[in-house]
Amino acid sequence: MRPHRPSNLLRVMPAKGATAVDVVVIGAGVIGLSCAWRLAQQGAEVTVVDDGGPAASDVAAGMLAPVTEAAFGEEPLLRLACHAVATYPSYVDELGGSEVVPVRHEGTLSVGLTADDRAELARLTTYRDGLGLRTEQLTRRDTREREPFLAASVGGALLAADDLSVDNRAVRAALRAQARAAGAEMLTGGPARLQVDAGRAVGVAVGVDEVRADVVVLAAGARSSVVDGVPEHALPPVVPVKGHVLRLRPQPGRHGPPALTHTVRALVHGREVYLVPRADGELVVGATVEHQGLDDTVVVAAVRGLLRDAHEVLPIVDELALAEVSTGLRPGTPDNAPVVGWSAVPGLFVATGHYRNGILLSGVTGEEVARQVAGHPPSALWQQLGPRRFTLQEAHA
Ligand SMILES: Cc1cc2nc3c(=O)[nH]c(=O)nc-3n(C[C@H](O)[C@H](O)[C@H](O)COP(=O)(O)OP(=O)(O)OC[C@H]3O[C@@H](n4cnc5c(N)ncnc54)[C@H](O)[C@@H]3O)c2cc1C
Repeated sequence: MRPHRPSNLLRVMPAKGATAVDVVVIGAGVIGLSCAWRLAQQGAEVTVVDDGGPAASDVAAGMLAPVTEAAFGEEPLLRLACHAVATYPSYVDELGGSEVVPVRHEGTLSVGLTADDRAELARLTTYRDGLGLRTEQLTRRDTREREPFLAASVGGALLAADDLSVDNRAVRAALRAQARAAGAEMLTGGPARLQVDAGRAVGVAVGVDEVRADVVVLAAGARSSVVDGVPEHALPPVVPVKGHVLRLRPQPGRHGPPALTHTVRALVHGREVYLVPRADGELVVGATVEHQGLDDTVVVAAVRGLLRDAHEVLPIVDELALAEVSTGLRPGTPDNAPVVGWSAVPGLFVATGHYRNGILLSGVTGEEVARQVAGHPPSALWQQLGPRRFTLQEAHA
């Protein structure tokens, strides 16, 4: 039996020729789909509109890495990320289990190529230790036993056993399937424009079609700040941060041990590169961090740089096939943390800005959005992550 719709949702009357639902979600990346799934599960009638454009969710490497992503001054994000990784196994179970969404549990090795790289890693490790994050220093021999193909210049490694990885494309596909199974409708068309009536969000228009809704969830990833129709004061401060990613695979007919079993994150002459292995032998290599607006062109120098650094860490990459080269736009924010909460426009809820952690945070975001849309206040981990934190900062500046 279909559960009851949340009691605080009021049916907005459809305009002539428009359909009406409880919630319309703009964007079918992992964030929009997770929101749609949880909202539909709690009884809301949900439609997801997507323009079929590029999604960062398909480009990402799929690291679930609160420890090796922990950076100075990002404690609210770190607390949320630790909660997300701890609850990821139950999230994956709900998505259909590890057959559907493969997760790797070997952990992450951080390595430095030069003395300066190792000194920088040590500095970060001291900071992370101070936060109580669990890591273990491995000797050169331990490291070699775990990863025999690492370059000779790689000495010991720091193991972050709690930093996992997941096949992010499988996460997105499973979310879409679960959202559909829970009753959410999917509409693919042109870009959605927000419809506002008397200062309140009342739905979206896609071409000549309209979908009226009590609540609009803005989950358009890196393009969340350029969605038509959103009043300027309600736009989230999201900036696109471009990343090049390579997917390497074993050459057809060549069998052998996998190039890696752990995720390896390396500093190579001060540059960061990561290599994330999948169970089928694929190796995801990334990523550049570039501020180029909405441009998503693949540029030779970026690809060359990633291959050069990956080769310094793992020379055997030379033997793999270069199966895919792509770019994605991370939805960045001024403090690198997501923006989740009611906007300044009644009826418009924002769920975006997940920057480098959207795959990790997709499950906990969907749950939180469903909670808040049902009328609950933000839960403890999300209290500092609403859209108003930026307007308040501006007011105090
Ligand atoms: C190179 C790279 C590596 C990454 N690695 C990791 C990682 O290892 N771990 C991790 O957790 N995260 C990682 N991320 C971050 C993660 O991919 C993002 O945070 C996450 O995918 C954001 O999801 P989203 O649903 O908000 O956006 P997206 O996946 O970009 O989806 C947004 C959707 O909205 C649609 N859309 C946009 N505008 C409109 C409109 N007006 N109307 C209709 N539809 C619209 C788009 O077409 C798209 O389908 C990485 C990202 C990149 C780019």
